[in-house]
Amino acid sequence: MDTEVIIIGAGPVGLTLAIDLGRRGVRCMLVERKDAPQFLPKMERCNARTMEIYRRLGLADRVRAAGLPAEVPMDVFVVLTMIEPPLLHLPYPSVEAARKEIAGSTDGALPLEPYQLISQYTLEPLLKAEAETLPSVTVRYGCEFLSLEQDEEGVTATVRGAGGRDETIRGAYLVGCDGGASPVRKELGIRLRGEGNLLELRQALYRCEDLFDKIPIGNGPGKGRHYHVADDRATFLIMQDSTRHFTLHSVVDSDEEMKAQFERTVAVPVDYEMLSCNPWRQNLLLADNYGFGRVLLAGDAVHLVTPSGGLGMNTGVGDAIDLGWKLAGTLQGWGGPNLLDSYEVERRQIGERNVGASRYASVGRRKWRSQWRPDIREATPAGQATRDNLARVADIEQRKTNEMIGAELGYRYIDSPIIDNIPGGPEPRFRVYQPTTWPGARLPHVWLGDGTAVQDRIPAEGYTVLRLGGATADGAALTEAFRERGAPVQMIDLEDARARDVYGFDLILLRPDMHIVWRGNRGPDDPAELAAMATGH
Ligand SMILES: Cc1cc2nc3c(=O)[nH]c(=O)nc-3n(C[C@H](O)[C@H](O)[C@H](O)COP(=O)(O)OP(=O)(O)OC[C@H]3O[C@@H](n4cnc5c(N)ncnc54)[C@H](O)[C@@H]3O)c2cc1C
Repeated sequence: MDTEVIIIGAGPVGLTLAIDLGRRGVRCMLVERKDAPQFLPKMERCNARTMEIYRRLGLADRVRAAGLPAEVPMDVFVVLTMIEPPLLHLPYPSVEAARKEIAGSTDGALPLEPYQLISQYTLEPLLKAEAETLPSVTVRYGCEFLSLEQDEEGVTATVRGAGGRDETIRGAYLVGCDGGASPVRKELGIRLRGEGNLLELRQALYRCEDLFDKIPIGNGPGKGRHYHVADDRATFLIMQDSTRHFTLHSVVDSDEEMKAQFERTVAVPVDYEMLSCNPWRQNLLLADNYGFGRVLLAGDAVHLVTPSGGLGMNTGVGDAIDLGWKLAGTLQGWGGPNLLDSYEVERRQIGERNVGASRYASVGRRKWRSQWRPDIREATPAGQATRDNLARVADIEQRKTNEMIGAELGYRYIDSPIIDNIPGGPEPRFRVYQPTTWPGARLPHVWLGDGTAVQDRIPAEGYTVLRLGGATADGAALTEAFRERGAPVQMIDLEDARARDVYGFDLILLRPDMHIVWRGNRGPDDPAELAAMATGH
């Protein structure tokens, strides 16, 4: 073997997987076609769950330092132009304000980390630099994946490296994090299904030094992150992390028109440069399978959503973090066959759910946009009625895009072979997050009396038996059962009464990704059986 895991694609998902594997000491080789990360805009918001994940990887502070300053508002507007009173203003807390809210939370309903606006072109180099520091990770840019073959023991990938030379790389597993067109998925003959090519837009990136400082302009909207223009071209302006770069999306016929569209939207003279302009298509697609044999797929390779709801990269980071510890456990020998098999069971249902959440948000967006009428700019009673109506509908429908806390935090793995599946449980909802320790859920964030967070006590290396509220229930037999299987495990006693209140049980068994395997008020009847199930046997 040249390496243990070959990762194809150094987008945010492949890079996050490489970092997670690297921190677990797993040897992996990350293969990327591009020569270097590119300055092209795509995602710009890491959601709260992704930021919790980056905190566990020790990256959250660096991501925040590179991203949008904490005090900048995250408000969303519906506008005619930037100089006119907004038709709708939806205020959302800056990171600074969200942190204050989180600091005062006591019921597990808020995440440990708020969201963070960071442009994909800032995030990728940051993740790449981190991956390159990890001794077990080899990062190879300028290296294109061509094909693969797999057998009982491993996978052989043929790649084209520097100088156009073809070579083979042999690994125990290969993960395709190679984006929507995924050559790896195509090699496996796995299809994407759903709604393709829903809308084609152009996206342009502008450098504009003075726009942010000029906002608010006239009676126009204040500082924020998204400005949706009420027109018949689906136009919207997004502030990027530097506050000196903006992207505009619009349905227009030529790149040149994107300049006119920017000027129309901003509506005051500003110095700007259009740095790039590219078409892109909206899709709502899900792969039939998340891999085959020793080849697995993650990120856009298996789910494509519209940007509404911001669930593209964020869902992919969730895939990476589900897969990392399972690959490590399998390679280290303590993981049974169900460990890797559970990846598709757990993550495909979340992919399906998030494609659904994105559809729900996109339909909302389309609904308020369908209220546009040609008289929207007229100073007439009819024009006013059009504006009022569009704003009224947008006040309901646009929120669907921006308020997805249930989809972000409330996902729960159902019918997984490595979870103690109890029928029922709180209904996962897109917009409402109900803290729960139902098996399969993420451990809610709770502050301890000393001001530290429970999540920070949970080691990423192995399983954790949490014993809460000074309980005396027997957790030792369970930890012993994991040890007998060679799986890393720890028991942590937290006497804090609040954590016991929110979590509702004396004992909670957690996986390395902080999802709940099992809970109870006394030790399990058969600890060996529970440990066998949790480790995939
Ligand atoms: C306008 C827009 C706004 C968005 N906003 C958000 C947002 O706010 N939040 C969010 O979560 N998501 C958002 N997204 C979606 C997000 O950008 C994607 O979901 C994310 O990039 C997926 O990451 P990935 O690593 O799976 O794939 P990609 O980022 O597509 O990376 C795949 C990588 O694989 C490489 N590759 C492909 N083929 C090969 C090959 N043969 N050999 C080697 N390497 C190869 C590619 O070069 C690329 O670097 C947005 C997308 C768009 C278009």
